[in-house]
Amino acid sequence: MFEQLGLIGCGLIGGSFALALKRAKLVKRVVGYSKSPSTTERARQLGVIDVAAPSALLAVSGADIVLLAVPVAASEATFKAIRHGIGSDALVMDVGSTKGDVIEAARRGLQGQLGNFVPAHPIAGKEVSGIEHAEASLFTGRHVVLTPIKSTLRSNVQRASQVWGGIGANVLTMTHEEHDSTFAAVSHLPHLLAFAYVNGLAGQPQGERFLSLAGPGFRDFSRIAASDPVMWRDVLLANREQVLAQSRAFRAALLEMENAMAEGESQALEQSIERARRVRAAWQPGASSSHDSQQDA
Ligand code: NAP
Repeated sequence: MFEQLGLIGCGLIGGSFALALKRAKLVKRVVGYSKSPSTTERARQLGVIDVAAPSALLAVSGADIVLLAVPVAASEATFKAIRHGIGSDALVMDVGSTKGDVIEAARRGLQGQLGNFVPAHPIAGKEVSGIEHAEASLFTGRHVVLTPIKSTLRSNVQRASQVWGGIGANVLTMTHEEHDSTFAAVSHLPHLLAFAYVNGLAGQPQGERFLSLAGPGFRDFSRIAASDPVMWRDVLLANREQVLAQSRAFRAALLEMENAMAEGESQALEQSIERARRVRAAWQPGASSSHDSQQDA
């Protein structure tokens, strides 16, 4: 049981974490801070946080657990802002969808407090952002990836595992390099493709007409194109090398299928589709979820 959660970023993920901790009776008090005072106040009105702090530093003062749930590009400034307020025994975590850049931000921002920091990424989310959409069960049955570094105190990795486990998540540990290459392949590239596909479609003279006739295939393929622009701008830039490598692999596969179509090679085309069909049919989600709108960011 923690006495006080210091929450920086009262949005979908931060708010859900606070609600989950409260529901599991793992925290007594939540002090929150968001960039806009109106967001922080809304989080208080909704009962997600108990106290609205006027600054990030004040939100973490006296906290024995701290969660950063801000867009990844805001990490370094946030670590710097809270450094002097972090208690020597406090557990500090983030939830960023990319890990290499956040760890670099923590090295620069936290300095002597780096041992307190356990980088974390819950593989759960929604296309919709903001505190209104926060829910206590968001992480139930979902993976949470921890990517501790050499400086991370083992005791803090243990505490982080217990907290996420205590709110129903399955905890995995891997290096940040493995994390960033994995999620470039299975999350970041699909988002990039969905954004580009929808833009390419809507930008055509007949785009609106096409869209008005679209069915379930379009709905399923394009769902994640409705995701938050600031969050995804940051993720795609932060993990650009890995995402661009995945994009090149995708282009090669696309070209192979385009060539088969252009040459009328029906057997080659069918084989490509069959390969994909088999892989997709055998795929099992890593963790069960009751969320139709999960994002896996
Ligand atoms: P969100 O709902 O938009 O919440 C982000 C919150 O951060 C907002 O309350 C925003 O405040 C606040 N914020 C932004 N810049 C800040 C700053 N400099 N200082 C303090 N607060 C700041 O976004 P989210 O979906 O929760 O995403 C948060 C993090 O979770 C991101 O790093 C993302 O990569 C990660 N993540 C997201 C998902 C997902 O599916 N959404 C899944 C896993 C991980 P204002 O309202 O005042 O702007």
